[in-house]
Amino acid sequence: MRALNDNYIWTLRNATHAAVVDPGEARPVLEYLARERLELAAILATHHHPDHVGGVADLLEKRRVPVYGPRNEPIATLTRPVSEGDTVSVPELDLTLSVLDIPGHTRAHIAYYGAGMLFCGDTLFACGCGRLFEGTAEQMYASLQKLVSLPDDTLVYCGHEYTLSNIRFAKTVEPANAALEAREARDRRLRDAGKPTVPSTLGEEKATNPFLRCLEPAVVDSANKYLGARIADPVRVFAAIRDWKNRF
Ligand code: ZN
Ligand code: FE
Repeated sequence: MRALNDNYIWTLRNATHAAVVDPGEARPVLEYLARERLELAAILATHHHPDHVGGVADLLEKRRVPVYGPRNEPIATLTRPVSEGDTVSVPELDLTLSVLDIPGHTRAHIAYYGAGMLFCGDTLFACGCGRLFEGTAEQMYASLQKLVSLPDDTLVYCGHEYTLSNIRFAKTVEPANAALEAREARDRRLRDAGKPTVPSTLGEEKATNPFLRCLEPAVVDSANKYLGARIADPVRVFAAIRDWKNRF
C-alpha cells in the first residue's frame, strides 16, 4: 500500500492474517486490516528511518506483535533484533524469510528474502539504489552484489516509488540500452494508470539498473566522462555514478 509521499508498505497476507514491511505510518495499515478483516501478525523493518518505522508504535497500541528489524540500528520499538543468518518466521502465515545484511544506505540496513520475494527497503530501488547516508560506496556495492546473486526471477519489493526518475538518470548513464527504453515505456504506462512499478524482478534490474552494471563498458565510459578521469574498478565506477545521481 502507499504511504506518506512515495513510500510503499508491503503486506504479506493470507485469508486471516497479515505481516507488514516498513510501516512508515499506521493509518493506511489499520485501514487495510479493517477493510480486509485481517489480524496483524508481525512487523518487519528494513532500517531505522522514520518513513519506514514511523507507524510501528501506533500499530503496537492496537495489537502487540513481534517487531523484527536490524540489530544494530536505533529503533525503539524493536522486539526481535535480527541480522544475517537469522530467519523470521510468521507461523500465522506459514512463512519464513531469511535476513541479509545490506549496509550502505544505513549502517545496519537489512533485507528479508524468501518465497521468491526480496524486501530491500532503501538499498536496491527499481532502476536505482539508495543514497549513502551512513555507509560507504564499498559497503553499498557489496550489498548490491549480494542481492544480485539471488535468482533472476526474484521479485524486488523496494521502499519507494522512484522508478521513472531513476530511469531518466539510467538513460543518461546508458543511452543505448534498449532494455531501458522498453522498461521506461512499460513503467510510464503503469504510472499513467495509477499503478505501482514495483515489484520488478532481479533479472530486469540486472539489465537496466546502472548501479548493478558497473562493469558494463557503457557505464564505465559514462562514469569516466563524469569524473574526467580514467577508472575501471567497479566500486569506483559505482561511487562515481552514485555521486552523479545525487546531483542529477
Ligand atoms: Zn531510508
Ligand atoms: Fe525511505
